[in-house]
Amino acid sequence: MIIIMGTGASPAQVEQVQERLRGWGFDIHFSQGVERTIIGAVGARKDPAMAPMLEAMEGVERVVHILTPYKLAGREFKGEPTRIRVGPVTIGGPRVVIIAGPCAVEDCGQIVGTAKAVKAAGADMLRGGAYKPRSSPYAFQGLEEEGLKLLAQARAETGLPVVTEVLNPRDVELVAEYADMLQIGARNMQNFILLREVGRARRPVLLKRGLAATTEEWLMSAEYILSEGNYDVVLCERGIRTYETSTRNTLDISAVPIIKRLSHLPILVDPSHGTGKRALVAPLARAAVAAGGDGILVEVHPSPETALSDGPQSLTFDDFRQMMDGLRRVAAAVGREM
Ligand code: PEP
Ligand code: MN
Repeated sequence: MIIIMGTGASPAQVEQVQERLRGWGFDIHFSQGVERTIIGAVGARKDPAMAPMLEAMEGVERVVHILTPYKLAGREFKGEPTRIRVGPVTIGGPRVVIIAGPCAVEDCGQIVGTAKAVKAAGADMLRGGAYKPRSSPYAFQGLEEEGLKLLAQARAETGLPVVTEVLNPRDVELVAEYADMLQIGARNMQNFILLREVGRARRPVLLKRGLAATTEEWLMSAEYILSEGNYDVVLCERGIRTYETSTRNTLDISAVPIIKRLSHLPILVDPSHGTGKRALVAPLARAAVAAGGDGILVEVHPSPETALSDGPQSLTFDDFRQMMDGLRRVAAAVGREM
Protein backbone atom coordinates (compact mmCIF):
# COMPACT_ATOMS: atom_id res chain seq x y z
CA MET A 1 0.00 0.00 0.00
CA ILE A 2 1.04 3.61 -0.35
CA ILE A 3 0.49 6.34 2.15
CA ILE A 4 0.01 9.74 0.59
CA MET A 5 1.00 12.47 3.00
CA GLY A 6 -0.80 15.81 2.90
CA THR A 7 0.98 18.79 1.33
CA GLY A 8 1.68 20.33 4.72
CA ALA A 9 2.86 17.12 6.47
CA SER A 10 5.82 17.74 8.75
CA PRO A 11 8.96 15.56 8.83
CA ALA A 12 7.94 14.38 12.31
CA GLN A 13 4.55 13.22 11.00
CA VAL A 14 6.25 11.38 8.14
CA GLU A 15 8.56 9.75 10.68
CA GLN A 16 5.64 8.65 12.88
CA VAL A 17 3.95 6.94 9.94
CA GLN A 18 7.18 5.17 9.05
CA GLU A 19 7.67 4.00 12.59
CA ARG A 20 4.23 2.47 12.68
CA LEU A 21 4.76 0.74 9.32
CA ARG A 22 8.12 -0.65 10.44
CA GLY A 23 6.48 -1.91 13.59
CA TRP A 24 4.09 -3.89 11.40
CA GLY A 25 7.05 -5.33 9.51
CA PHE A 26 6.90 -3.32 6.27
CA ASP A 27 9.87 -2.15 4.22
CA ILE A 28 9.64 1.56 3.52
CA HIS A 29 10.26 3.21 0.17
CA PHE A 30 9.90 6.91 -0.58
CA SER A 31 8.66 8.73 -3.60
CA GLN A 32 9.30 12.42 -3.12
CA GLY A 33 7.13 14.35 -5.58
CA VAL A 34 7.27 18.09 -6.17
CA GLU A 35 4.45 18.70 -3.71
CA ARG A 36 4.05 15.69 -1.51
CA THR A 37 5.71 12.69 0.02
CA ILE A 38 4.46 9.23 -0.81
CA ILE A 39 5.46 6.37 1.44
CA GLY A 40 5.45 2.91 -0.10
CA ALA A 41 4.97 0.06 2.39
CA VAL A 42 5.81 -3.36 0.98
CA GLY A 43 6.85 -6.78 2.11
CA ALA A 44 4.50 -7.51 5.03
CA ARG A 45 1.00 -8.90 5.32
CA LYS A 46 -1.76 -6.36 5.08
CA ASP A 47 -4.60 -6.28 7.56
CA PRO A 48 -7.88 -4.43 6.75
CA ALA A 49 -7.56 -2.51 10.02
CA MET A 50 -4.29 -0.88 8.97
CA ALA A 51 -5.56 1.64 6.42
CA PRO A 52 -8.10 3.33 8.75
CA MET A 53 -5.48 3.45 11.51
CA LEU A 54 -3.00 5.14 9.19
CA GLU A 55 -5.61 7.51 7.80
CA ALA A 56 -6.35 8.65 11.35
CA MET A 57 -2.75 9.76 11.82
CA GLU A 58 -1.71 13.42 11.64
CA GLY A 59 -0.43 14.49 8.23
CA VAL A 60 -1.82 11.49 6.32
CA GLU A 61 -4.07 12.37 3.40
CA ARG A 62 -5.03 8.89 2.25
CA VAL A 63 -3.98 5.29 1.94
CA VAL A 64 -4.13 3.54 -1.42
CA HIS A 65 -3.90 -0.18 -2.06
CA ILE A 66 -1.88 -0.88 -5.17
CA LEU A 67 -3.66 -3.51 -7.21
CA THR A 68 -0.82 -4.35 -9.60
CA PRO A 69 1.65 -7.02 -8.42
CA TYR A 70 4.53 -4.60 -8.95
CA LYS A 71 4.35 -1.79 -6.43
CA LEU A 72 7.46 0.43 -6.65
CA ALA A 73 7.76 0.13 -10.43
CA GLY A 74 4.22 1.33 -11.08
CA ARG A 75 2.75 4.72 -11.81
CA GLU A 76 0.60 4.61 -8.67
CA PHE A 77 3.67 4.80 -6.47
CA LYS A 78 5.32 7.48 -8.59
CA GLY A 79 3.43 9.61 -11.07
CA GLU A 80 6.29 11.52 -12.65
CA PRO A 81 8.75 9.83 -15.00
CA THR A 82 11.98 8.77 -13.35
CA ARG A 83 15.21 10.30 -14.64
CA ILE A 84 18.31 8.24 -14.18
CA ARG A 85 21.80 9.67 -14.17
CA VAL A 86 24.67 7.66 -15.59
CA GLY A 87 27.71 9.89 -15.21
CA PRO A 88 26.92 13.02 -17.23
CA VAL A 89 24.03 11.34 -19.09
CA THR A 90 20.36 11.53 -18.03
CA ILE A 91 18.04 8.76 -19.22
CA GLY A 92 14.33 9.52 -19.05
CA GLY A 93 14.45 13.24 -19.78
CA PRO A 94 13.84 15.19 -22.99
CA ARG A 95 17.00 13.84 -24.63
CA VAL A 96 16.95 10.66 -26.70
CA VAL A 97 19.95 8.76 -25.33
CA ILE A 98 22.05 6.72 -27.74
CA ILE A 99 24.09 3.79 -26.44
CA ALA A 100 26.32 2.17 -29.05
CA GLY A 101 29.19 -0.27 -29.27
CA PRO A 102 30.11 -3.80 -30.21
CA CYS A 103 28.31 -6.90 -29.03
CA ALA A 104 31.51 -8.07 -27.33
CA VAL A 105 34.75 -6.36 -26.38
CA GLU A 106 37.34 -8.12 -28.57
CA ASP A 107 40.55 -6.12 -28.25
CA CYS A 108 41.83 -2.65 -27.44
CA GLY A 109 41.78 -1.29 -31.00
CA GLN A 110 38.25 -2.55 -31.60
CA ILE A 111 36.65 -1.09 -28.46
CA VAL A 112 38.57 2.19 -28.31
CA GLY A 113 38.17 2.70 -32.06
CA THR A 114 34.43 2.07 -31.85
CA ALA A 115 34.07 4.34 -28.84
CA LYS A 116 35.75 7.20 -30.70
CA ALA A 117 33.70 6.66 -33.85
CA VAL A 118 30.32 6.48 -32.10
CA LYS A 119 31.17 9.46 -29.92
CA ALA A 120 32.08 11.54 -32.98
CA ALA A 121 28.71 10.58 -34.47
CA GLY A 122 26.83 11.71 -31.35
CA ALA A 123 26.50 8.65 -29.09
CA ASP A 124 26.01 9.33 -25.36
CA MET A 125 27.24 6.02 -23.94
CA LEU A 126 29.35 3.02 -24.91
CA ARG A 127 28.21 -0.60 -24.71
CA GLY A 128 30.22 -3.83 -25.03
CA GLY A 129 30.07 -7.25 -23.42
CA ALA A 130 32.94 -8.66 -21.39
CA TYR A 131 30.88 -11.64 -20.20
CA LYS A 132 28.80 -13.02 -23.05
CA PRO A 133 25.74 -15.25 -22.61
CA ARG A 134 26.25 -17.41 -25.73
CA SER A 135 23.83 -20.07 -26.89
CA SER A 136 26.79 -22.37 -27.59
CA PRO A 137 29.39 -23.22 -24.96
CA TYR A 138 31.95 -23.36 -27.81
CA ALA A 139 31.30 -19.76 -28.93
CA PHE A 140 33.42 -16.78 -27.75
CA GLN A 141 32.48 -16.16 -24.12
CA GLY A 142 34.06 -12.73 -23.65
CA LEU A 143 37.34 -11.36 -22.31
CA GLU A 144 36.00 -11.12 -18.74
CA GLU A 145 38.03 -8.79 -16.48
CA GLU A 146 40.41 -7.94 -19.33
CA GLY A 147 37.35 -6.77 -21.27
CA LEU A 148 36.21 -4.62 -18.34
CA LYS A 149 39.65 -2.96 -18.27
CA LEU A 150 39.42 -2.20 -21.97
CA LEU A 151 35.97 -0.67 -21.48
CA ALA A 152 37.38 1.53 -18.73
CA GLN A 153 40.19 2.55 -21.07
CA ALA A 154 37.67 3.43 -23.81
CA ARG A 155 35.78 5.56 -21.29
CA ALA A 156 38.98 7.30 -20.23
CA GLU A 157 39.80 8.13 -23.84
CA THR A 158 36.33 9.34 -24.86
CA GLY A 159 34.46 10.34 -21.70
CA LEU A 160 31.58 8.02 -22.66
CA PRO A 161 30.01 6.19 -19.69
CA VAL A 162 30.00 2.42 -20.12
CA VAL A 163 27.27 -0.20 -19.79
CA THR A 164 28.18 -3.87 -19.74
CA GLU A 165 26.44 -7.13 -18.89
CA VAL A 166 26.90 -9.03 -15.67
CA LEU A 167 25.99 -12.70 -15.86
CA ASN A 168 26.82 -14.01 -12.45
CA PRO A 169 25.90 -12.70 -8.98
CA ARG A 170 29.47 -13.26 -7.80
CA ASP A 171 30.80 -10.87 -10.51
CA VAL A 172 28.51 -7.94 -9.66
CA GLU A 173 31.02 -6.20 -7.43
CA LEU A 174 33.84 -6.56 -9.93
CA VAL A 175 31.76 -5.37 -12.90
CA ALA A 176 30.48 -2.43 -10.83
CA GLU A 177 34.08 -1.38 -10.19
CA TYR A 178 34.65 -0.79 -13.89
CA ALA A 179 31.23 -0.05 -15.37
CA ASP A 180 28.93 2.96 -14.99
CA MET A 181 25.83 0.85 -15.56
CA LEU A 182 25.12 -2.87 -15.14
CA GLN A 183 23.23 -4.73 -17.85
CA ILE A 184 20.99 -7.68 -17.07
CA GLY A 185 20.57 -9.63 -20.28
CA ALA A 186 17.37 -11.11 -21.66
CA ARG A 187 18.36 -14.62 -20.60
CA ASN A 188 18.81 -13.50 -17.02
CA MET A 189 15.71 -11.35 -16.66
CA GLN A 190 14.29 -13.85 -14.21
CA ASN A 191 17.51 -14.78 -12.46
CA PHE A 192 16.15 -13.53 -9.17
CA ILE A 193 19.38 -14.01 -7.23
CA LEU A 194 21.20 -11.84 -9.76
CA LEU A 195 18.40 -9.24 -9.68
CA ARG A 196 18.66 -8.98 -5.91
CA GLU A 197 22.42 -8.67 -6.13
CA VAL A 198 22.31 -5.74 -8.59
CA GLY A 199 19.55 -4.29 -6.41
CA ARG A 200 22.17 -4.01 -3.69
CA ALA A 201 24.84 -2.54 -5.99
CA ARG A 202 25.29 1.19 -6.23
CA ARG A 203 25.09 1.36 -10.01
CA PRO A 204 22.18 2.02 -12.36
CA VAL A 205 20.82 -1.12 -14.03
CA LEU A 206 19.74 -1.71 -17.62
CA LEU A 207 17.16 -4.50 -17.47
CA LYS A 208 16.50 -6.21 -20.78
CA ARG A 209 13.17 -7.87 -21.47
CA GLY A 210 13.24 -11.67 -21.31
CA LEU A 211 12.98 -13.67 -24.53
CA ALA A 212 9.38 -14.60 -23.80
CA ALA A 213 8.46 -12.27 -20.96
CA THR A 214 5.19 -10.41 -20.64
CA THR A 215 5.36 -6.75 -19.65
CA GLU A 216 4.08 -7.73 -16.21
CA GLU A 217 6.84 -10.31 -15.69
CA TRP A 218 9.36 -7.73 -16.86
CA LEU A 219 8.10 -5.12 -14.39
CA MET A 220 8.16 -7.74 -11.62
CA SER A 221 11.86 -8.25 -12.39
CA ALA A 222 12.38 -4.49 -12.11
CA GLU A 223 10.51 -4.70 -8.80
CA TYR A 224 13.12 -7.16 -7.48
CA ILE A 225 15.83 -4.56 -8.06
CA LEU A 226 13.81 -1.62 -6.71
CA SER A 227 12.74 -3.56 -3.63
CA GLU A 228 16.41 -3.93 -2.68
CA GLY A 229 16.73 -0.15 -2.66
CA ASN A 230 18.26 0.45 -6.10
CA TYR A 231 15.79 2.79 -7.81
CA ASP A 232 17.93 3.40 -10.88
CA VAL A 233 16.45 0.90 -13.29
CA VAL A 234 16.12 1.45 -17.04
CA LEU A 235 14.10 -1.06 -19.07
CA CYS A 236 15.18 -2.20 -22.54
CA GLU A 237 12.88 -3.80 -25.11
CA ARG A 238 14.97 -6.18 -27.26
CA GLY A 239 12.42 -8.30 -29.08
CA ILE A 240 10.47 -11.37 -28.05
CA ARG A 241 10.01 -14.87 -29.44
CA THR A 242 7.14 -15.28 -31.85
CA TYR A 243 6.36 -17.63 -34.76
CA GLU A 244 8.00 -15.17 -37.17
CA THR A 245 11.28 -16.40 -38.62
CA SER A 246 12.23 -13.53 -40.91
CA THR A 247 13.74 -11.68 -37.96
CA ARG A 248 15.80 -12.98 -35.03
CA ASN A 249 13.13 -11.74 -32.62
CA THR A 250 9.97 -9.69 -33.01
CA LEU A 251 10.66 -6.19 -31.77
CA ASP A 252 7.65 -5.19 -29.68
CA ILE A 253 7.40 -1.45 -30.27
CA SER A 254 4.05 -1.44 -28.48
CA ALA A 255 5.97 -2.19 -25.27
CA VAL A 256 7.17 1.44 -25.31
CA PRO A 257 3.81 3.18 -24.85
CA ILE A 258 2.55 0.30 -22.68
CA ILE A 259 5.47 0.59 -20.26
CA LYS A 260 5.11 4.37 -20.27
CA ARG A 261 1.53 3.98 -19.07
CA LEU A 262 2.23 1.34 -16.45
CA SER A 263 5.57 2.52 -15.09
CA HIS A 264 7.59 5.63 -14.32
CA LEU A 265 10.83 3.89 -15.34
CA PRO A 266 12.59 4.91 -18.57
CA ILE A 267 12.56 2.52 -21.52
CA LEU A 268 15.15 2.05 -24.24
CA VAL A 269 14.85 -0.04 -27.39
CA ASP A 270 17.48 -2.39 -28.84
CA PRO A 271 16.71 -2.84 -32.55
CA SER A 272 19.92 -4.88 -33.06
CA HIS A 273 18.91 -7.94 -31.02
CA GLY A 274 15.31 -7.07 -31.81
CA THR A 275 15.77 -7.84 -35.50
CA GLY A 276 19.14 -9.58 -35.94
CA LYS A 277 19.54 -7.82 -39.29
CA ARG A 278 21.64 -4.75 -40.02
CA ALA A 279 19.26 -3.38 -42.66
CA LEU A 280 16.36 -3.34 -40.18
CA VAL A 281 18.14 -1.56 -37.35
CA ALA A 282 17.78 2.06 -38.50
CA PRO A 283 14.07 1.87 -39.47
CA LEU A 284 13.17 0.28 -36.13
CA ALA A 285 15.33 2.74 -34.22
CA ARG A 286 13.30 5.51 -35.84
CA ALA A 287 10.06 3.75 -34.91
CA ALA A 288 11.24 3.43 -31.30
CA VAL A 289 11.94 7.15 -31.00
CA ALA A 290 8.65 8.01 -32.71
CA ALA A 291 6.83 5.76 -30.21
CA GLY A 292 8.30 7.65 -27.26
CA GLY A 293 11.33 5.54 -26.31
CA ASP A 294 13.88 7.23 -24.07
CA GLY A 295 16.75 6.03 -26.21
CA ILE A 296 18.33 3.35 -28.34
CA LEU A 297 20.90 0.62 -27.70
CA VAL A 298 22.65 -0.52 -30.89
CA GLU A 299 25.54 -2.73 -31.87
CA VAL A 300 28.30 -1.14 -33.92
CA HIS A 301 31.51 -2.85 -35.07
CA PRO A 302 34.52 -1.59 -37.07
CA SER A 303 34.27 -4.64 -39.37
CA PRO A 304 31.07 -6.63 -38.76
CA GLU A 305 32.26 -9.38 -41.14
CA THR A 306 35.02 -10.33 -38.69
CA ALA A 307 33.02 -9.79 -35.44
CA LEU A 308 33.28 -12.58 -32.88
CA SER A 309 29.55 -12.25 -32.15
CA ASP A 310 26.46 -10.71 -33.74
CA GLY A 311 28.20 -9.46 -36.91
CA PRO A 312 25.03 -9.74 -39.06
CA GLN A 313 23.17 -7.22 -36.90
CA SER A 314 26.10 -4.88 -36.22
CA LEU A 315 26.19 -1.49 -37.92
CA THR A 316 29.38 -0.21 -39.56
CA PHE A 317 30.55 3.26 -38.51
CA ASP A 318 28.99 4.62 -41.70
CA ASP A 319 25.66 2.89 -41.03
CA PHE A 320 25.70 4.33 -37.52
CA ARG A 321 26.25 7.89 -38.75
CA GLN A 322 23.39 7.49 -41.22
CA MET A 323 21.11 6.07 -38.56
CA MET A 324 21.90 9.05 -36.32
CA ASP A 325 20.94 11.51 -39.10
CA GLY A 326 17.57 9.84 -39.49
CA LEU A 327 17.01 9.66 -35.75
CA ARG A 328 17.72 13.36 -35.30
CA ARG A 329 14.97 14.18 -37.77
CA VAL A 330 12.48 11.90 -36.01
CA ALA A 331 13.47 13.23 -32.58
CA ALA A 332 12.89 16.82 -33.76
CA ALA A 333 9.52 15.82 -35.23
CA VAL A 334 8.31 14.41 -31.91
CA GLY A 335 9.70 17.25 -29.81
CA ARG A 336 12.72 15.47 -28.35
CA GLU A 337 16.34 16.53 -28.06
CA MET A 338 19.23 14.59 -29.52
C1 PEP B 1 23.56 -7.86 -25.48
O1 PEP B 1 23.01 -6.76 -25.42
O2 PEP B 1 24.76 -8.00 -25.63
C2 PEP B 1 22.73 -9.09 -25.38
C3 PEP B 1 23.30 -10.27 -25.19
O3 PEP B 1 21.43 -8.88 -25.51
P1 PEP B 1 20.17 -9.75 -25.00
O4 PEP B 1 20.42 -10.07 -23.58
O5 PEP B 1 19.04 -8.81 -25.23
O6 PEP B 1 20.11 -10.94 -25.90
MN1 MN C 1 24.87 -9.03 -29.18
